[in-house]
Amino acid sequence: MAKIKGAIVVDTEQCKGCGLCAEACPAKVIALSHEVNGKGYTYAFMQNPDACIGCTSCALVCPDTVITVYKIKL
Ligand code: SF4
Ligand code: SF4
Repeated sequence: MAKIKGAIVVDTEQCKGCGLCAEACPAKVIALSHEVNGKGYTYAFMQNPDACIGCTSCALVCPDTVITVYKIKL
């Protein structure tokens, strides 16, 4: 069976730093930045990109729908 790898893109300027995506990620991919965006919020980023399985949990829980998930077949 083909292995699926995932990747996410966060619209960092729209992210509010609520952290729900990081909590929802079963692979512990996401962390919040130490820097802030233009609105003064910390934002989500892929701290552990190799672990992403493209499950879309993060995108589903994001209240502002600022996460896009991509899946790559390996
Ligand atoms: S798609 Fe799944 S594994 Fe990848 S960052 Fe989002 S919740 Fe984590
Ligand atoms: S759930 Fe959405 S708004 Fe909240 S930290 Fe993650 S990307 Fe940002």
